[in-house]
Parts: sequence; structure tokens; C-alpha cells
Amino acid sequence: MKIETMAVHKGRAVDPATRAVTPPLHMSTTFERDTDGSYPQGFIYGRSDNPNRRLLEECLSALEGGESAAAFSSGMAAIMSVFQTLRPGDHVVAPSDIYHGTAKLLREVMAWWGLQTTFVDMSEAGAVAGAVNDATRMIFIETPSNPQLKITDVAAVAKFARGRGIHTVCDNTWATPVLQRPLELGVDLVVHSSTKYLGGHGDVTGGVVVAASSGGLFERVRQVQHDGGAVPSPFDCWLLLRSIRTLPYRVRAHTSNAGRVARFLADHPKVAEVFYPGLPQHRGYDTARRQMSDFGGMLSFRVKGGQEAAFGVAARTQLFTRATSLGSYESLIEHRASIEGPQSATPEDLLRVSVGLENAEDLIADLGQALGD
Ligand code: PLP
Repeated sequence: MKIETMAVHKGRAVDPATRAVTPPLHMSTTFERDTDGSYPQGFIYGRSDNPNRRLLEECLSALEGGESAAAFSSGMAAIMSVFQTLRPGDHVVAPSDIYHGTAKLLREVMAWWGLQTTFVDMSEAGAVAGAVNDATRMIFIETPSNPQLKITDVAAVAKFARGRGIHTVCDNTWATPVLQRPLELGVDLVVHSSTKYLGGHGDVTGGVVVAASSGGLFERVRQVQHDGGAVPSPFDCWLLLRSIRTLPYRVRAHTSNAGRVARFLADHPKVAEVFYPGLPQHRGYDTARRQMSDFGGMLSFRVKGGQEAAFGVAARTQLFTRATSLGSYESLIEHRASIEGPQSATPEDLLRVSVGLENAEDLIADLGQALGD
């Protein structure tokens, strides 16, 4: 089944009680036991499971080509639960250009937990091999990376790890399963911030872990979630599933707009550099072409003239809102270094853009006037 059809049909059934075509919202936190003490529908308590969460997990699992999925209250809750399957003293390898929240989690909270992390430029062949040691239990990939859109060869890292009994996890938030299917490339787990493209409307915070196999590592993720309680509300699951029905079409439109904006910026005399894996001059272009079906709706660019010039461009745009986050219908522009804090390696003149669903010509005209055309 193709992804458009899965997005419409997976996690969907006409409600037997009412014949409602759209799944009803079940807010109940508890479910009645039968006279013999059993739970005939399998639902016991809201923290363990819920009908809306189950439908969402069925759909996400199908989209990523996994065996199981667990929906969380945020992307970071999903990512932390994955790291909490590890033990104090274990070692993780992660990309040096990675969502700064994940880097901070590893450097601070997970370091208190006893995890050691080595950050490497995973777009360099051989970097991962140079970073593993006897205690390495997990390689965490994020590709395209945030905010420099570096591309990691997912299949190569997964193959290297499998031979050594190291788990691999890929943050697929930016590409979405529409453009990239990391489980098919050999990783064990995919994570998402569903706050982004999966939600798509800037109104839900959520996360997800999808597993190639239901046993082993994923059972530990489920236990961390159940015992720790980082679960999403039924309404958030309902909203996410509603949004996912149109995901493939939204992602394609974001991607088409981003490609046009990237080409415009790449030719602009006031732009020093554009980071977009769909540009042939991008270092990861060949790998991205191999492992992604298209290049996505995110890009970053460096403005000639440094930080002040970058702030000026962001201030002059009228269709791009100056705000963090990504993947919603509206275009956002953000100066990343100033939100990432003192540990940031992001250039001071870099602006990150989440290209929205407006008309590409309007977006290009707006960026042009902001750059002083
Ligand atoms: N992963 C990536 C790639 C992100 O961009 C983000 C948030 O920006 C997260 C994870 C964290 O997700 P959340 O904000 O839903 O906790």
C-alpha cells in the first residue's frame, strides 16, 4: 500500500456503537472490568493505553514500516525514553549538528543519569567508527540535521552498528516517513517530534517512537513510558491522527516551495551560503538523493554581513513569522545561534526557515524585499 493510502486508512474504523466515520474522542481515564475481572477491549487505564492513542500508534507504525509505535506527550519525552532504556556507564554517539534540545538533554540530564556521549560530524564517513568504544550501546542519528541540514548515510551507520550489537535510532522529524524511511535502511527505532510535520498545524505537542521490532529495545521503551507516565492526551492523539490524513500532500507542497526558495537564495548576492540537501552543491546531495525521495521543507541560509544583517532580514520579512518550531502550514524564520545558547556551533549569520504552504512566489518576493531587492 502506498503512503497516501496508508495515511488515510491506517488507524481508522467506523465506530461500531454509533457508525461515526471519524473516530470518536475517548477522554475516559478508566475502563470497566467484566464480572470475571477481565478487560474485554484490552483498555485498563489512561496511562497504559487509550483508544485514540492506539489508533494513532497503528497509523504511525504503518507509515514508518514498523512493527509497533508508542505515542508520547512531546518529542523530547519520546527521545528521553529511548535514552532511559540505557544504563549508567553506557556510551552514546550523536551528531554534532543536532537539535539543540537533544544535545542539551544528553549533556545535562542524561549525563546525570550516567550516560556518556560523544558528538561527531556524522556526515563524514568514518566519524562514527572513530567515536565508538566498548561501552557504546546506541548511535543516535538525525538527518537532515538541525540547523545545518547535514546528511548522514543511514544505511551505512546501521550496518556498522548491527555488526557490533549497537542500537541505532534515527530522528525522522524533518524528513517524515513521506520522504525517508529509516527502518527500511536498517535502524532499530525512529523517533519524531510530532509537534512538527505530523501535527502540521502548530497546535499539538507530541512525540513518537516507532520500532522495527516489537521485542527487546522497544519493550523497554514501553516500560519507561508506562512506568514514567510521559503519555499524550486522547485529544492530542485525535488531533494528530486528523492531521496525518493529509501528511503526504502537505509534505510535498512544503518540499516544492522549499526547493524554489532554496534556489532563489542560492543565486542571491547578499546570501553567503544556503543549506538545503536538494541543491547539487550541497555536500550531502548524493546521499540525500539515495536515501530520501525528496528533500523536505526546511532550509537554512547565511546572510552576508553577520548577525546584525541576519536579524535585519528576519525583521523585514512580512510573510515569515519570527518564531521557533517548524512543519506547520505557515512559514517561520529563526536566528538559531541566539536560541541555542553558549554551546551552539551554529554560525551567527544563519537564519533557519520552515517553508510553509503559502505560494512560493509570494515567499520569494518577501525574502527578496527583506534582502534589499
Ligand atoms: N527533534 C527535532 C529534530 C526537533 O526539531 C525537535 C523540536 O524542535 C525535537 C526533536 C523536540 O520535539 P518537541 O519540541 O516536540 O519536544
